[in-house]
Amino acid sequence: MNFDCISAISTAPVASGVGVIRISGDGAFAVAENMFKCKTPVSKFEPYKLYVGSIDGGNITDFGMCVIFKAPKSYTGEDMVEFHCHGGVAITRAILKRTFDFGARLAERGEFTKRAFLNGKMSLSSCEGLVDMIYAQSDSEAKTGFYLYREKLLKKIQVVQDKLKYVLALIDANIDYPEEDLEFTYTEQIKQTLSNLRADLVPLVDSYRSASKMAYGVNVAICGRPNAGKSSLLNAILGEDKAIVTDVKGTTRDVVEGWIEYGGVRFNFFDTAGIRESADKVEMIGIERSKKTISSADFVLYLIDGAEEICDEDRKILSTLDNDKTIIIVNKCDLLNGSALDDGRLYVSALEGTNVKVLLDKLLSLTALDEFNFEGDFLTEERHYLAINNAISSLNKALSSIDTLPLDVVASDIKDAWRYLGEISGETCDEEIFNEIFSKFCVGK
Ligand code: GDP
Repeated sequence: MNFDCISAISTAPVASGVGVIRISGDGAFAVAENMFKCKTPVSKFEPYKLYVGSIDGGNITDFGMCVIFKAPKSYTGEDMVEFHCHGGVAITRAILKRTFDFGARLAERGEFTKRAFLNGKMSLSSCEGLVDMIYAQSDSEAKTGFYLYREKLLKKIQVVQDKLKYVLALIDANIDYPEEDLEFTYTEQIKQTLSNLRADLVPLVDSYRSASKMAYGVNVAICGRPNAGKSSLLNAILGEDKAIVTDVKGTTRDVVEGWIEYGGVRFNFFDTAGIRESADKVEMIGIERSKKTISSADFVLYLIDGAEEICDEDRKILSTLDNDKTIIIVNKCDLLNGSALDDGRLYVSALEGTNVKVLLDKLLSLTALDEFNFEGDFLTEERHYLAINNAISSLNKALSSIDTLPLDVVASDIKDAWRYLGEISGETCDEEIFNEIFSKFCVGK
């Protein structure tokens, strides 16, 4: 038994109707032959067809199904087997352990997908989309992940790469036959093509800010003095008692998070520790963390206790906040009378839920994400954003030097642009990057 074969439980280790154990690599069929018994021996199985029989789990035997996938027509591009047994911890674990007795070893995180990538079944960006889909909690994250997974971005990038190759071939021709006096027409044609390609890439870079928010959520920090009602507001927004609410100042020591999907957009809310001068060491650490959360947030909801006047401390904190992303909200409007509520500020009652929807509508309209077009092209990953930005810089360099420098210098910038774009599919990036991507996967995928 000296073969390269991996196995893992691909379903969640919880009580469930069905559990799936996957095996991939040389010897996967031999492992199945040893463990699965039905009227037809595994060696006579038709691929992609489910067979019913008993699965050997060592001390346990289960009744389930087995399917084989023949290389290269499988997820990993290798011979693969799936056992579909009863779900739950003990049965799936026993069957997995039994595969080790017949020569398989436990797959590393993302190893099935890494093999798919190395065997040319998937691009790196498609793998990244898959990670997003698997970990997606919101619809928008799943949808943006699916966009990458189905290679829509990659196809667009590959068109640009092909045209760059064509330009490089033109330059080659001119370098090889300079006496033919083709330089002028070639140069104009190359300039035009490079500017068109740059124009194709710029909208992608421009889409990054909004698309990444669509994928991973808009971060909103709730801040204000102690007892303004921050934890109550978080709970009112989430519709659950996530943060502790008391009238004891300094109760929220650390940042408490929760998220909702509103108008198709994921909002991540952070209830921060009330900002005030404090001698308490733990509270001060919480306040420092709050300040970091506030500075990295997309929006800050600054909560004022409506039962109290806005005070110097409020003004001091407000003066440190970025006006463009801060929304002032007056809480505890249930304690105020009607005429006090007409000064144009946003009044809410976290206790009674008054105007929480108005607040969410305001946030949604400020993000301008409600009209996001999932059918268009966009960037959600920082890695892709950096690669395309670098490609644009190389194209800019090529365009600015084409009239003055020799064509082989220009060609080197164009090759750089091509190479940066190749990082998206993974064909030009180093092992460190793809190992980092696969480490984000769970075992069994
Ligand atoms: P935080 O310190 O800013 O997180 O404030 P909390 O959410 O813990 O609330 C402090 C106190 O104010 C608690 O006693 C809450 O019940 C009360 N409170 C919060 N929001 C409201 C509100 O909208 N109306 C009234 N009347 N009381 C509120």
